Amino acid sequence: MNALTRDEFDALLQGAAGVLKTKANVIAIPGEAILGIEAVARCCAGPGRRFLNLVTGPYGRDFGLWLREGGAEVFDLETPYDETASPEAVAAAIRAFEPDALSYVYAEAVTGGANPAEAIQRLAREAGVMTIIDAVSSVGADPFSMDEWGVDIASLGLQKALLGSNGISFVAMSNQALQWMRQNPRAPKHSILSLPELYDAQREAVPMALSVLEAREALRAFEAIETMGGVDALTKRHQAMAALVRREARALGYELYQKDESTCTALNTTLLRPDTLAGRAFRGEGIVTPGNGALSEVLLRVNHYGDHCTEADAVRALETLKSLL
Ligand SMILES: *Cc1c(COP(=O)(O)O)cnc(C)c1O
Repeated sequence: MNALTRDEFDALLQGAAGVLKTKANVIAIPGEAILGIEAVARCCAGPGRRFLNLVTGPYGRDFGLWLREGGAEVFDLETPYDETASPEAVAAAIRAFEPDALSYVYAEAVTGGANPAEAIQRLAREAGVMTIIDAVSSVGADPFSMDEWGVDIASLGLQKALLGSNGISFVAMSNQALQWMRQNPRAPKHSILSLPELYDAQREAVPMALSVLEAREALRAFEAIETMGGVDALTKRHQAMAALVRREARALGYELYQKDESTCTALNTTLLRPDTLAGRAFRGEGIVTPGNGALSEVLLRVNHYGDHCTEADAVRALETLKSLL
């Protein structure tokens, strides 16, 4: 297979910048999004650095663990998984803890909840706090605007709403965030987890570590998004699908897992698992799956995202849901 050209690589970074709506520094991560997310935590965390970390699901919890391992002072603002962080609670925690940075997951596919990111960003900007977002499960399904919202660091994957695969992911960083990582004596050095090193290397040359197959697949995904009218059109499509599935599932008698419908992500829909023989025995069918881990006994996920954001998928999913009652 031919090596990736500089033009292809530049188009790849531009594709990621386009869906994030940013002019910030974008780097390609040679691996699944979790690699970039861990790299962000390791590059930012150090003694004397204070983080307010929102925990609304498992990914937020893991991020806090990595920050602590790096010697940072971390205050976890935890919410039950069937709720998301309230802007009031975040504002109070910023005042009380005075963090250098605020980290959170925008939408968690595991819970079906989306934090009120736009409102949270406004609070962080006012307080002069840097912001770090795991946007893997949101971009393409929930509105996101990195520069307009003043996000400093955003992690991106393509395997959720963005019609792509999980072999390459991206991290976008403001100049200030990149500086902050460079100044951190505890950041990884000579390491695939060093984002400043990846940034410098990728300005020089097309990275060897990047899978050519996955890179071309990502380019195809970005082109597909363009063809359908861009990331806003894709977001609208997910929002319409989520509204339809929520409405029809409720009409069948289901209850949403998230307590407040306004905090549901448009990526997928989480529903309380019916306490029936079929509900308890359910192991998954099509885009309907049991919850992850301990949530398998609590909720069902309808994963109507990416290539499965179609009416045919919705119809089939609703038939599955009906059969479990
Ligand atoms: C959503 C997500 C996955 C996949 O999780 P599923 O529960 O299989 O949907 C993997 N990695 C990251 C970083 C994610 O956000």
